[in-house]
Amino acid sequence: MQKHTLMESTPHIEIKHTTQATNKGVYVLYYPSINESADPIVKALQFYFKSKELIKDINSGKSAKIYALNDDDPFEYVIIQNATSPRLDGANLARKASNKIATQKVEENSISVLLPHNYTIHDIAEFSFGFQLANYRWTYQSIKEGSKSSSFPIHYLNLITSISQEDYLNQVEQKWNLKYLHHLVKPILRLRELVPTRPNIANTEFMKNYILDIVKEYGDKITSTLIEGDDLLGAGLRLIHAVGRGSIHKPFYSCLSYKGNADSDKYYALVGKGVVFDCGGLSIKNTSSMEQMYDDKGGACTVLETFRAVVQLGLPINVVCSTAWVENSIGPDSYRVSDVIQSYKGLTVEILNTDAEGRLILADAMSYAQDKFAIYEMIELSTLTGIIKNALGRYCGVFTNRKGCYSLLQKVEKITKESFWPLPLEDQHRELIKGSVADINNSSSGRVGASAAAAFLECFVEKKVRWMHWDIANVAVTDKNDGIYTKGGTGFGVMSLIYYMTWDVVSKELKEQKQENEDDDN
Ligand SMILES: [Zn+2]
Repeated sequence: MQKHTLMESTPHIEIKHTTQATNKGVYVLYYPSINESADPIVKALQFYFKSKELIKDINSGKSAKIYALNDDDPFEYVIIQNATSPRLDGANLARKASNKIATQKVEENSISVLLPHNYTIHDIAEFSFGFQLANYRWTYQSIKEGSKSSSFPIHYLNLITSISQEDYLNQVEQKWNLKYLHHLVKPILRLRELVPTRPNIANTEFMKNYILDIVKEYGDKITSTLIEGDDLLGAGLRLIHAVGRGSIHKPFYSCLSYKGNADSDKYYALVGKGVVFDCGGLSIKNTSSMEQMYDDKGGACTVLETFRAVVQLGLPINVVCSTAWVENSIGPDSYRVSDVIQSYKGLTVEILNTDAEGRLILADAMSYAQDKFAIYEMIELSTLTGIIKNALGRYCGVFTNRKGCYSLLQKVEKITKESFWPLPLEDQHRELIKGSVADINNSSSGRVGASAAAAFLECFVEKKVRWMHWDIANVAVTDKNDGIYTKGGTGFGVMSLIYYMTWDVVSKELKEQKQENEDDDN
């Protein structure tokens, strides 16, 4: 197996909060606060800008312009950008700025950023969050022996603000919102690194070891069950076994659980599809449809990293992370079109298309979690249907059996800026998956594919369980640099899942914060 280390655990970027400029670096200025500031640095800059007539440019509304300066000037470059709200603009501007800076050959990979004096601690946390995500480049250079290339153009970030390093680090631990912005960068980056990792490296053994590392790290806080290869048959996980048995890389199922709320027996179940590569099986895909199928493990990777973050942050919730891992391949023992297989739940499934494998492994993964734990709500993530991109573009499609789930999600997406859109699940879709020789079939011959897939999954949801299916097929990876996203994995879903599951506590904080901002403005 090819040696490959994912992102190191050492800090990829060191952020220092200083109240004054310490080095001759690059400054990014966030206008329009510059004129109002009483800060001596800002005042000095103001004078300096006037002498350079940069203010004229600022006032004319030019944004993201780079000024290369002379040797005896205090800075190497000055980048001027307009920003009004950090969450709205900050992350996107940070992305643009870090891109520009990365191409400027910054000395020692270091940059100083002057933030407006009136930025609150939330604004600063938002900026750091956006900057770190924008500063990431997905690269495959790390697999070269002795390679020193880095995924992070900027290694040191000096944030010049009115708050000291100590104060900042203290304050971010006081509130969940700040904690999330501070601590979720790493899980998101890890996810962005993992999802595009190619199947010759990230095969099922690799993913098993990845999970075992999590178990090793948090063994005292979590329970774990791992069922592999032919043991899947004994456990009743026949659908997972059927899909994965055609590959020499053994299929497996993983169930991790964490109890963060001792007073409650109710669990969230996070379920994910982990197809490490999908050639379609005997219903083989054509080459161009196969190209991006390394991302078919995106759902399972997302719930795994979310689960790790829940444990690491010690969130006051109970969570089960149920993931199924297979390579959908062609071999002498591949499952076939027309096979009839009994699911863990007992329903029989007629296989009409071996490329509709995601719903099969998810069915067993959902059933297992509901069987072993008192699940209150189940959120399942999968790159399930290619057709979703035709309908929704860069939105995550959402199906649910409770309207309340989606209305809560709408509140969450306003904060996380991850886009969701609801899709219908009705009797007309349920009709499509009714079986002729078995209880149900796994393919609706391409008609209303996304809704039919959801109807299939719905058969495996207990009536009392609140359920959402997120089809992330078109949001798990991107081929464009856009805002805080750079080419490769997006890390979509971690933020929204965490905010969703802890909305009770974070929404109170958000209200208080809004009130404080309004008081400040008055
Ligand atoms: Zn498939």
